[in-house]
Amino acid sequence: MHALRAIPGACSLADLDTAGTPGFVGSKSDALRLLQARGKHLHTLQEKLYANAVSGNGRSVLLVLQGMDAAGKGGIIRHVLGMVNPEGIDHAPFGVPSSEERLHHFLWRVHKALPRLGHIGVFDRSHYEDVLVARVRKLVPEAVWQGRYHEINEFERQLAGQGMVIVKVAMFISLQEQKQRLLQRLRDPHKNWKYSPRDVDDRLQWPHYRDAYQALLDRTSTEVAPWYVIPCDHKWYSRIAVAELLIAALETMDLTWPPAQYDLQKEITRLQRS
Ligand code: AMP
Ligand code: MG
Repeated sequence: MHALRAIPGACSLADLDTAGTPGFVGSKSDALRLLQARGKHLHTLQEKLYANAVSGNGRSVLLVLQGMDAAGKGGIIRHVLGMVNPEGIDHAPFGVPSSEERLHHFLWRVHKALPRLGHIGVFDRSHYEDVLVARVRKLVPEAVWQGRYHEINEFERQLAGQGMVIVKVAMFISLQEQKQRLLQRLRDPHKNWKYSPRDVDDRLQWPHYRDAYQALLDRTSTEVAPWYVIPCDHKWYSRIAVAELLIAALETMDLTWPPAQYDLQKEITRLQRS
């Protein structure tokens, strides 16, 4: 999965093969089988994360999902995070800021949505919208969005310093694939609700979004909070790729089962006699 890491200045979105499957050799059915097995491992790792938090060694993981409409963010949440105990997930979607949120600094709503200790937080979109849509749609002056890259790096550095492990995933599909997925949403009455006329507005701005995503990868992929670029034309690939990234993140934490904080033998005896 190291192949997916965005090295600032060395990752060109213009050259990205969105149908690629870097680091994975195998078929779709291989990937689906692997995902089931890896899901069990992910489940256990999250349980250890929680057990440690309950025992006083509290840390958390934050998964940031960024991508254009229909890139598959919802599918990652259902199929990857869905394999973990739902109690262990803190899900936070970021839509158009409310009138209250607009009265605050852009990181205000992000602070409030950070995962609890022992949990895996998942941001469905994130503070990065404030250097993507805000930049492309000119929602704030350039001097404001320019300053945000540094603010975001500082913010994430602080979170990492507090023990949070941050995994940032940028999801890309081809314009052709996006058209097919959006058409499905329009043609299937059960999917109409997923579509928004904004989706086509954003699609028409893709060259500008691509520049904004490129800047984000070049300026905010840091040692403590790296970006990973995921080709997403194949949903089965993006799901196994994100599962592996989460597993790798949790494994860096060297989690062990916390020992009992009571006299184990005495409790067994007490229980048997009760
Ligand atoms: P969806 O994720 O499809 O429900 O759409 C959420 C919409 O909210 C997208 O069009 C985002 O671009 C938009 N959005 C999210 N964050 C912001 C923000 N900070 N400023 C403006 N629009 C945003
Ligand atoms: Mg949408």
